Amino acid sequence: MPLSSRPTPQPGILDIAPYVPGKSGGPGRPAIKLSANESPLGASPAAVEAFAAAAQRLDIYPEGSSRLLREALGEVHGIDPALIVCGNGSDDLLHLIGQVYLGEGDEAVMNRYGFSVYPIITLATGAKIVMTEERDYTADVDALLAAVTPRTKIVWLANPNNPTGTYLPEAEVRRLHAGLRPDILLVIDNAYAEYVTAPDYRIGLDLVRASENVVMVRTFSKMGLAAARIGWMVGPPAIVDAINRIRGPFNVNLPAQMAGAAAARDTAFTARLKAHNAQWRDWLTGALQSNRLRVIPSQANFILVLFEDEATAARAFETLLAAGYVVREVAGSYGIGNGLRISIGSEAAMRGVADVLNSMMAGQ
Ligand SMILES: *Cc1c(COP(=O)(O)O)cnc(C)c1O
Repeated sequence: MPLSSRPTPQPGILDIAPYVPGKSGGPGRPAIKLSANESPLGASPAAVEAFAAAAQRLDIYPEGSSRLLREALGEVHGIDPALIVCGNGSDDLLHLIGQVYLGEGDEAVMNRYGFSVYPIITLATGAKIVMTEERDYTADVDALLAAVTPRTKIVWLANPNNPTGTYLPEAEVRRLHAGLRPDILLVIDNAYAEYVTAPDYRIGLDLVRASENVVMVRTFSKMGLAAARIGWMVGPPAIVDAINRIRGPFNVNLPAQMAGAAAARDTAFTARLKAHNAQWRDWLTGALQSNRLRVIPSQANFILVLFEDEATAARAFETLLAAGYVVREVAGSYGIGNGLRISIGSEAAMRGVADVLNSMMAGQ
């Protein structure tokens, strides 16, 4: 007794607005891409070499648990490799977390301008996403806690957050965790942890170790390996066990595992990226901040620039594109109509972007 004349997606699926990635270029001309928070210094040379070496072994299945990568991460970050799960990008892991802990009738809570993949993952499981108001483009712990109901199963928190670049200090993350029931999972997505310079920030490993309901998710994508798709998470044994039961048995390919392990150990390269980013993040923030442009203070490898209105932001996007710079519109997917997100790039790109925007603002 078919109710429909064709296969019907599960409840929630068709409520999802497809993810819109940052644009790659203008019509027909090569552009400088500042729309996806990629590394301006390329990849770690050691990672490139390891990736290439793996080309000799493409006929053999990779080790399924990414053991060598987990061991490298464990060594560098002081974590028991048994508590690490690797994924095909952190996106893979975020989806697995949603699949394990959310279902129809459940709710997940996030801040309004949080990462736009969380609603996709949540709705895909049939659960409801609950968005909370922020305080000046920053997640508000009181609002997140106030949104919790008996149906809440997950709180998603990107720290620092994308696309705002703002962060919660350690004390606020602890206050958030302390206010959650023990059956609610706090997912701390530290995609930009490597770029943080604020002294009161912590990645939250202490919290993961001291509780049964916190996981930390990380990625190599913003550190020069976006194409390789490598993410990792750390969680308590029960959560790691559950995730591993549904994880694709070979979810991280061999070249990615090898490149990730080499990149993790190349701490000098990571330090170089961080120093470059801190220098040009500060510089661009200072160069653009004015009475007509507002730059939200960022701890990540991008800045969010707010214009006086939506039309000015759209004009700035087109003006930058005409000059060869592609930045990220945040009107549609994030609902920040007067904003543009600009990745921190090379010195030349940062000077170029500042010149284009400042002359546009001076000329209008
Ligand atoms: C970029 C990003 C990710 C996704 O990273 P992948 O590892 O490339 O899937 C996850 N969370 C946030 C907040 C991000 O900005």
